[in-house]
Amino acid sequence: MRDADLVILGTRVVTPEGVRPAAVAIAGGVITGVHEHGAAPDASRRLDVKDAIVLPGGVDPHVHVNEPGRTEWEGFETATRAGAAGGVTTIVDMPLNSLPVTTTAIALKVKARAAAGRATVDYAFWGGVVPGNVQQLAPLARAGARGFKCFLVPSGIDEFPPVTARDLRPAMAQIAELGLALLVHAELPGPIQRAAASRAPGDPRRYASYLASRPAAAEVEAVDLILDLCRETGCRVHIVHVSAAETLEPLRAAKRAGLPVSAETCPHYLTFAAEEIADGATAWKCAPPIRERSNRDRLWDALADGTLDFVASDHSPAPPALKCLDTGDFVRAWGGVASLELALAATWSGARQRRRDVQDLARWCAERPARLAGFGRKGRIAAGCDADLVVFDPDGRFVVEPDRLRQRHPVTPYAGMTLAGVVRQTFVRGVCVYDSGAFPAGKVGTWVKP
Ligand SMILES: [Zn+2]
Repeated sequence: MRDADLVILGTRVVTPEGVRPAAVAIAGGVITGVHEHGAAPDASRRLDVKDAIVLPGGVDPHVHVNEPGRTEWEGFETATRAGAAGGVTTIVDMPLNSLPVTTTAIALKVKARAAAGRATVDYAFWGGVVPGNVQQLAPLARAGARGFKCFLVPSGIDEFPPVTARDLRPAMAQIAELGLALLVHAELPGPIQRAAASRAPGDPRRYASYLASRPAAAEVEAVDLILDLCRETGCRVHIVHVSAAETLEPLRAAKRAGLPVSAETCPHYLTFAAEEIADGATAWKCAPPIRERSNRDRLWDALADGTLDFVASDHSPAPPALKCLDTGDFVRAWGGVASLELALAATWSGARQRRRDVQDLARWCAERPARLAGFGRKGRIAAGCDADLVVFDPDGRFVVEPDRLRQRHPVTPYAGMTLAGVVRQTFVRGVCVYDSGAFPAGKVGTWVKP
């Protein structure tokens, strides 16, 4: 057996088969074996984490880095440091908010150049489906796109317009042929327009007005449409950021029927509840919106029973001025919550209250998102996988101080909250990139190409 460069010993290593005492042997950035705790091979370095949890590095497939073009919103340097500090070892960047948007192979190359040498953790890219770019999907896949994202409602930026069923039929046929997945922002404009027409515009500072403006029906109708198109084209579909519990039954039925469908929800839908959001508190604005407490409970149930496959941050930062924190205007404020650094702890905080364990956490935050992105070597602590690992104290607690977050802007609805689950160390391909507040290795993140 080849000697290891590094062996990590722990009494609670989270492997796909269970949590157990183990010695994880690493050579050349790859896990060469997961051995009995007492049978570690020789290694030039040994790290004994005792009874801290060793988790597979988090894979966050829903991150808006916004670089190039809107680097003042966020960027590869800041986003990937936030990831490292939050136990995320691979991010997949969304095709929008950057300029150009990633809807052509050339734009993907521009983005890859912008990311090169700036990342602390590994990264990959989604391409975008917009009206008229079906010819670009195969070139985007060849250039390294992991799959494609589309919107059915305005995305918030004009360069990334929404698609209709007419655009989607040929696009989904093409994506199916490429063997990739279509990620869908599932809200349809019809119910949103009907909600607007049915009542006088409320006070823009009231959260209840904002919530009423994006009804659950918009999500339900969108999911129905996408499931129909999935049936028709055979294209694998993934519903991003499920917020409305009303979509869960159709998703459950579709899975039972064997359709190739998966779905994610986000830490903010699992953490917050509409009843608790103050008027004017635009840090909480996202689309779809955070709904009621009873809705939140049903999202947790759906994660537990597998209707929702995993948790992704939908990290979508913007400069404080665009969040309209001063006026508290929910109509004008940018919709997006930036939580890459906090997603693991926020998810764990809710999970442990509901008696879920670290094995669930590893499935929701690493293994299943890795599968969506087609990362065969990430998301699991197993021989042959990249040595992406997190040393995690499940009982440690910390108070969220916005100024200390590594994201570009200190805006977060988690400000002042106490979260459980402290990331002590993060390893990317065997290199320690985060250690108790320090970033000892610099920018070692690389592009995970297909
Ligand atoms: Zn998003």
